[in-house]
Amino acid sequence: MNKRDYYEVLGVSKQASEAEIKSAFRKLAKKYHPDVSKEPDAAEKFKEAQEAYAVLSDSSKRSQYDQFGHAAFDQMGGGTGGFDFSDFDFSDIFGDIFGGGFGFGGPSSSTRARRGSDTLVRIPLTFEEAVFGCKKDIEIDTMVECDSCHGKGGHDEKTCSTCHGSGQVTSEQRTIFGAFATRTTCPTCHGKGVTYDKTCKKCHGNGRVRENKTVEVKIPAGVDTGNKLRLNGKGEAGTNGGPNGDLYLEFRVKEHPLFERDENDIYLKLPITITDAVLGCKKDVPTLNGNIKLSIPAGSKTNDKHRLKGKGIADPQTGRKGDMYVIVDIHIPKKLSKEQKKLFESLSKTKLDDSDKFDKIRKYL
Ligand SMILES: [Zn+2]
Ligand SMILES: [Zn+2]
Repeated sequence: MNKRDYYEVLGVSKQASEAEIKSAFRKLAKKYHPDVSKEPDAAEKFKEAQEAYAVLSDSSKRSQYDQFGHAAFDQMGGGTGGFDFSDFDFSDIFGDIFGGGFGFGGPSSSTRARRGSDTLVRIPLTFEEAVFGCKKDIEIDTMVECDSCHGKGGHDEKTCSTCHGSGQVTSEQRTIFGAFATRTTCPTCHGKGVTYDKTCKKCHGNGRVRENKTVEVKIPAGVDTGNKLRLNGKGEAGTNGGPNGDLYLEFRVKEHPLFERDENDIYLKLPITITDAVLGCKKDVPTLNGNIKLSIPAGSKTNDKHRLKGKGIADPQTGRKGDMYVIVDIHIPKKLSKEQKKLFESLSKTKLDDSDKFDKIRKYL
């Protein structure tokens, strides 16, 4: 089953603003909310819209989606579950649509443990770093848990005197569906059940601070441009005890002056002289793992291919090695000494056009 494009689900363009996305989702939520809608597939449609909104309303998730599509949120196992929005907080928008206290149960928005956002970093690598793997210290600008208050946002914790620690108060709510006695978030502690005498100075109560953090990463041998590596839990810190997001590294590998890469195979153009081609020769050839001697047989042509089995790049998944190919490139000299010219002239008087290729042409002359 193909997953629908998130933009298509919400019916907005790829360039849609945050406000457009929000308004499109509001419309769909009103239409398909399973408590309201009579349409048979409302629950499915509602879920689909929630998932699309959870991604597109978050700028970092949106940019990941723009780049990688649904694959951005696929777990390593390759499932097609799509983005898991169970941690996403819809209470703002549903409160907005249906009036406060709309029954979603569960803790309120401000105290709900939320997973931190994923972070994407592009890493330039030299050819050798990519081929052999390397360790790198990556600097990322990200949200980390405040070490002064350990993510709580304040100091000198006390049980909230309004809700006595439950985080919720009972009140009557009027909604478009009538009046309900509902339990709502305590306005004093915002659902935390505790208050702090002092707001944390370092994070201003957020529990997280923006910081340049250095992450040491081990890049496996064999990665190539466009390959991505996911580091679990190395993204932004979560809030209210929620887990960290993930860090994605995307590689960009510089070209090598000699070797050309095609997946796990390596190509090298080897220039040889015209006499080496005619007479055959032994040549020193650089490979990824030092020089080797290669025999070029007499009568070689340009583009003749010599396969060096297993001298390519290790596959980062399987470790299986690709091959190296040496491609013969016969150099025709442009400047000849008097002596060389003489030798060629005397050579040209001998019969060199002994191939049937020449006969084919002669027939048409
Ligand atoms: Zn703090
Ligand atoms: Zn309270």
